[in-house]
Amino acid sequence: MHKRQAARIRVNGIVQGVGFRPFIYRLAEQEHITGWVQNSSKGLIIEAEGRPESIASFIRQIKQHPPPLAVIREISTEIIPEVGYSEFIIRQSAREQEQLVMISPDVAICQDCLRELFDEKDRRYKYPFINCTNCGPRYTIIRDVPYDRDRTSMASFPMCPSCQSEYDDPRNRRFHAQPNACPVCGPQVQLLDRKGQSVDYDIHQLLLEGKIVAVKGLGAFHLAVDATNAEAVAELRRRKRRDAKPFAVMVKDLATAHEYCFIDQYEEAWLTSPSAPIVVMRSKFNEELAGSVVHPGLDTLGVMLPYTPLHTLLFDAQIKVLVMTSANISDEPLITDNREALDQLKDVADYFLVHNREIVNPCDDSVMSVCPEGSPHFIRRARGFVPRGIPIPINTDPVLGVGGDLKNTFCLTRKGDAYLSQPWGDMTQFGNYQRFQVGLERFKRMLDVEPVTIALDMHPDYQVSRWGRQQTQYRQIEVQHHHAHLAAAMADNGLGEEVLGLICDGAGWGTDQAIWGGEILRGDYRQFQRLAHLTYLPFPGGDQNSRKPVRMALIYLYSVMGEKGWKLAQKHLPDLSWDEQEIIIQQINHSRNWLYTSSCGRLFDAVSAALGVCSWNSYEAQAAMQLEALAQPGIMEGYPYRITVEKGMYNMDTGPMWPELMRDRYKDNVPLPVISGKFHQTLIAMFTETLMKVREDTGLNQVVLSGGVFHNQILLRGIISALGGQGFEVFYHQQVPAGDGGISLGQAVIASEVTEKCA
Ligand code: ZN
Ligand code: ZN
Ligand code: FE
Repeated sequence: MHKRQAARIRVNGIVQGVGFRPFIYRLAEQEHITGWVQNSSKGLIIEAEGRPESIASFIRQIKQHPPPLAVIREISTEIIPEVGYSEFIIRQSAREQEQLVMISPDVAICQDCLRELFDEKDRRYKYPFINCTNCGPRYTIIRDVPYDRDRTSMASFPMCPSCQSEYDDPRNRRFHAQPNACPVCGPQVQLLDRKGQSVDYDIHQLLLEGKIVAVKGLGAFHLAVDATNAEAVAELRRRKRRDAKPFAVMVKDLATAHEYCFIDQYEEAWLTSPSAPIVVMRSKFNEELAGSVVHPGLDTLGVMLPYTPLHTLLFDAQIKVLVMTSANISDEPLITDNREALDQLKDVADYFLVHNREIVNPCDDSVMSVCPEGSPHFIRRARGFVPRGIPIPINTDPVLGVGGDLKNTFCLTRKGDAYLSQPWGDMTQFGNYQRFQVGLERFKRMLDVEPVTIALDMHPDYQVSRWGRQQTQYRQIEVQHHHAHLAAAMADNGLGEEVLGLICDGAGWGTDQAIWGGEILRGDYRQFQRLAHLTYLPFPGGDQNSRKPVRMALIYLYSVMGEKGWKLAQKHLPDLSWDEQEIIIQQINHSRNWLYTSSCGRLFDAVSAALGVCSWNSYEAQAAMQLEALAQPGIMEGYPYRITVEKGMYNMDTGPMWPELMRDRYKDNVPLPVISGKFHQTLIAMFTETLMKVREDTGLNQVVLSGGVFHNQILLRGIISALGGQGFEVFYHQQVPAGDGGISLGQAVIASEVTEKCA
């Protein structure tokens, strides 16, 4: 008899719904190990008995080759007395215990399923809902926990005997695959016309003819149209009343993606990852693509690969690139329901490709760009990532951060992890506000938490803050918008000690009633102090200015250059009527009660409009994005600026830049790409110089970067490299968006700190 040993192994992380237990089962068989595996509140527990070398190899393989979707945070092993098991089994777990395990986001179709999808002999040949333990829908179909079929929208599809036997067999790659289905027992698609009548057309043919097809996907309806057909794409814009906002495209495969964009190894890795996000990359301006209507005025293109079998089947030899855009009308909620789609899109889509599996949790596609060193830069964190937990450096009773009014997400914490929701959109839209509330209840149930503290933005008029103030059952704290940005960036990077924060943002309510947005703060999760800001500018008209960059151009020109500036505006801002100009000037001169702003976003708007690049934002940040797209790379020279000290704070003033900028543009005919490059460089130099002064005053050398303006890659890369060159330690967002989609994380860690203090 060989010597035997017994070990208890605990595995923490994402280990549920990712095929971990069958993986362990097969590994145990292979290594002749007996014992059992079970899910528990502390992750996965294994008891393994066998020869010492087998157990060592068993543990090594768990560490080195876990299932593709598993994320192992920690493995611990202890030697225990031998029981003498005769076989290896998968133990059923106690339901309530399973709730503390993380729920998996949705997963893009895997290679094995793709192969079967196109195998004529396979029983799932061309079946649009093929999936397995390693791929398929998760979060978007889950109603409740623990995650099993009864609690998903697959509950209404009882498995046929063939599917059931796969599901029951630990050796099968569909063992415990909750959404397992086939053409006999699973969901079905249907093609409908505008009247909702079933029609029998070839979908490829319709797309080839330039028809607009509403497609029910994983987390919402999309509108699909041939992206090489300029007329069809223009028609989609007309019907959707969407002037210029870039459309993302879905391409047949990776090779096709390479035809349209410059793609580096990291971008490729994200594109093909199980999360399958939209990756925004540099366009090749391939003439086959109807570029001028797909992404007008921009040098980047958002691309994704087909992530469900249904999407895969939309493509063929002729259809290789489709505009694939969320079907909802501008700021309204995502469309998830068949009847809703037929009703709301009757004047937009020609046909409807629907199916009978319910979308439980609406979830838009995630959007990111990829940093040169490979980390993701989220513009929208949603499908494929939500509801995965983000480890945070504080572990207290559960708290809730309710987010802001734009791109709202909320954030719940549970035992050292933060769970961010998908974005709910603009909270002033009632439909979004309702979805937010439904989503919050579901998250609380899924995570089995009830917050003790709730953190909200101190903005007096945010809808979501008003809602928060009514939740009197919780301890409440109000958080300044840019303090939340700073804390979000700290938590995103696992920092705990006081840091400096450079926050370049659109708008946030300041403690002095002004609209902040170009700020240097020092702070941690407890407190913050404002050390520097962009020069205050009168802000007559408030929020409407963010839709009309041309107003900001006049406000800047007049504030900086007086009458001379107004003359320039009269000459070079034809998109601002004489009347409107007069009203703005009067308001600036005659009122003492105007709001003031230090917004960095509005500065970008002003420059973009003053240069004649973009006068009106038909979508958020259009003027800034087009200005960035223009910039010539490699410009090192900037414009003059001024740093002064006022009321104990540094005042970062772009005043001296304006006369030169206007001269470059309208007198010396300097090319726009050069002017744009110089403007970016000006900000980089001004922020770096101010941070150096601030470092000298405070002795702090770590800088976090946050705020929506950091979606601008030239500014982000430029600041990182300039600060790095001065010996700063620089941190930026990698797990949540730099914009307002990330502030709920900051609010939550600040609330955690308060909760800890009160405990
Ligand atoms: Zn699969
Ligand atoms: Zn079946
Ligand atoms: Fe913000």
